[in-house]
Amino acid sequence: RKAPTQRRLFTKSHKLDNVLYDVRGPVVDEAARMEAEGINVLKLNIGNPAPFGFRTPDEVVHDLAHQLTETEGYSPSKGLFSARKAIMQYSQIKGLPNVTIDDIYTGNGVSELINLSMSALLDDGDEVLVPAPDYPLWTACVTLAGGKPVHYVCDEASEWYPDVQDMERKITDRTKAIVLINPNNPTGAVYPKEVLQQVVEVARRHQLMIFCDEIYDRLCMDGIQHTSIASLAPDLFCVTFSGLSKSHMIAGYRIGWMVLSGNKALGKDYIEGLNMLSNMRICSNVPAQSVVQTALWGHQSVNDYIVPGGRIYEQREYIYNALNEIPGVSCVKPKAAFYAFPRLDPERFNIHDDQQFALDLLKQEKLLVVQGTGFNWIAPDHFRIVYLPRIEDLKDAIARLTRFLEYYRQ
Ligand code: PLP
Repeated sequence: RKAPTQRRLFTKSHKLDNVLYDVRGPVVDEAARMEAEGINVLKLNIGNPAPFGFRTPDEVVHDLAHQLTETEGYSPSKGLFSARKAIMQYSQIKGLPNVTIDDIYTGNGVSELINLSMSALLDDGDEVLVPAPDYPLWTACVTLAGGKPVHYVCDEASEWYPDVQDMERKITDRTKAIVLINPNNPTGAVYPKEVLQQVVEVARRHQLMIFCDEIYDRLCMDGIQHTSIASLAPDLFCVTFSGLSKSHMIAGYRIGWMVLSGNKALGKDYIEGLNMLSNMRICSNVPAQSVVQTALWGHQSVNDYIVPGGRIYEQREYIYNALNEIPGVSCVKPKAAFYAFPRLDPERFNIHDDQQFALDLLKQEKLLVVQGTGFNWIAPDHFRIVYLPRIEDLKDAIARLTRFLEYYRQ
């Protein structure tokens, strides 16, 4: 090889060409720049409970401290026995069929496992049905793995439930799997059994795998009992994801898991791929794995937040009512998690670039939200707000938003 004569620039991989992850995108970069200048930004852009005063349960912290010296080394690639046993028992209580300890993989958050599970599955051009709106890591990981995310619509007029007909219409010979996010980020929807049953029937008819992200399953409000779709599909091959970032307020520890269930014989070859990728990353953060048993089976402090009088519940009530009182804004009531996904009436605001909208809001009112298209929503007429801050701060946010929207035209 001849030495290059011109200055050589290093460009990013083309694999990233269509990968988007706007939850931490350009608008957030601008907010960081403003903060570096000393400007105070009210940040409602990320679902990270700890900075808003949601503390990790004491027993989890104590448990971690006690086990630090025992968790200095690598664990088996899928995770510590104690963690996987606790997850297995949790899965059995949720009715996931045919789950053994070998079917459980721990990860550095659900995030790592979303990436791993898509990388192990997809050949170039393989299609995966992903919800719109979605938690955008799903779309990003399908794309990064060479696959094609095909978005099915969740219907705002029907509580943001998946439009199962739209889902089925979009199936082709290349479709391998359906992704569900239940409870959903960004809409806060929780899907009832009848809807899940319809999705199972579609997957059954077309022989598709089901991936279900259930990281918010322990944050359902209004007495709703969460149903795992995998519990309705013993004859299909399902992968269910959850973790402790949200329910145990330890997003920083990085611990999540995925559980294979149902007819695993269908996925024998895929499982080999999963094991290979799991081995290659050696193992997930071992101290964080060591608290899974205590976290899942100890006192569930989150339960106090999601009932009347509890912070998440009351903040949800406030934000839902306050958003709907702003002229031109409407919002379906979120039933779980801590996000609202309000609609901006297109007749009133006529927004054609919602990233610009979020940027204008940031610059004018020092308020940071994420534009709806950042969640692969189909039109520039929504945004996501995180309602983790205390009501005083949410009131401030609503005042800024109301002032901004009064004159906003694009
Ligand atoms: N899945 C959903 C639906 C999420 O909202 C998030 C984080 O916001 C994640 C996964 C990632 O969670 P983790 O902290 O376990 O990586």
